[in-house]
Amino acid sequence: MAGFVAPFLLYAAMLLLHVLLPSRQVQGYVLDQETGRPFNYRLSGLLTFFVVLALWLVADLLCWIKWDWLYLHRWSALAGACTLGLGYTLIVVLPAPSTGKSLLADLFLGRIENPQYLSGRVDAKMALYMLGAIMLMLNTLSFAAYHHEVFGKNANPGVYLHTALFAFFVIDYLFFERAHLYTYDLFAEKMGFKLGWGCLVFYPYFYSVGLWGTAHLAEPAVITRLGWGWLVLSTLVFLSGWILARGANMQKYLFKRFPDRAFLGWIEPKTLSGGNLKLLCNGFWSLSRHINYLGEILMATGLALSLGHLTSPWPWLYPFYYILLLVPRERDDDRRCAEKYGVVWEEYRAKVRYRIIPKIY
Ligand code: NDP
Repeated sequence: MAGFVAPFLLYAAMLLLHVLLPSRQVQGYVLDQETGRPFNYRLSGLLTFFVVLALWLVADLLCWIKWDWLYLHRWSALAGACTLGLGYTLIVVLPAPSTGKSLLADLFLGRIENPQYLSGRVDAKMALYMLGAIMLMLNTLSFAAYHHEVFGKNANPGVYLHTALFAFFVIDYLFFERAHLYTYDLFAEKMGFKLGWGCLVFYPYFYSVGLWGTAHLAEPAVITRLGWGWLVLSTLVFLSGWILARGANMQKYLFKRFPDRAFLGWIEPKTLSGGNLKLLCNGFWSLSRHINYLGEILMATGLALSLGHLTSPWPWLYPFYYILLLVPRERDDDRRCAEKYGVVWEEYRAKVRYRIIPKIY
């Protein structure tokens, strides 16, 4: 029962911190259909993250709750998070007017685009991403703590590396939270099961699937044999992905906010244009049309490799999921951009020929 209730309490506490803590007030990219102006957002992800971690640390030091508690109660916590995710989906979708699709489609994809609560103090999408990211970190730390508790000085160093890489992943997302306002989920998706349940359940519980499935296992042979070499290789795969994903996102983000500014101070924006519509066609955006998706897949691969359990299916579920998510998403985005940019998109397709992987796909 305690495990089942834990996600409700943890998410409520995080949300309360988000409402109470100081935040950055920023203007977003998505337009409010009612006013015609961009939505405003309160962003407090990084601060909320560190406060939650500090509170968890204090709770551990005072022996109220141990770091590995979320591992020991992971199944009941998953059930609790699922119930919460489903409950939120029903609450956000059912009262809204139908989109004309079936009820099931509306429940899955949602009916309203950008719900905001408490007079705009809480934006549902940004808050849910923050909750999911922090819970992912708590789960990962807890699973690693369990491994440490069981194996002590014989622990798999890959588990610590995996945890450090996930910490980097989460902190990076929260540090660049503002850039997320310019992404597909914010401007193209509605709030339903996919986003609501996705952030509350899938993000924190599935992204940690590699450690979930291997925390109880001893150091794998590849790490015993190759040691640091293996850890460095995994880190390099992860970081090369990060450079592609973060680099592409930040170049585009800068371009949308300040169309004439050079990225990193030296990559002047080169564009294809028609009327008011402009597309970047240099830097990261000249490598493939969604080089950022390749970056995400490489980061996930680095995370899977870091654990060293090459024959276990668990760590591979995560990069495999990214392929299943991002390949169709690129097709959807391509259709959306073809409609929005018309002939400019045709030119861009002709100039940058590959969808995700340069020279291959
Ligand atoms: P993109 O950041 O690639 O955004 C696509 C949009 O960018 C297009 O719809 C278009 O929007 C604009 N655009 C496309 N090409 C160009 C160009 N050449 N020049 C200027 N603008 C362009 O994809 P997402 O929003 O899907 O992803 C954002 C980030 O989030 C990515 O790094 C992605 O990998 C990551 N992500 C992470 C996930 C995770 O779980 N960690 C899951 C999914 C995504 P517009 O109409 O505004 O011009």
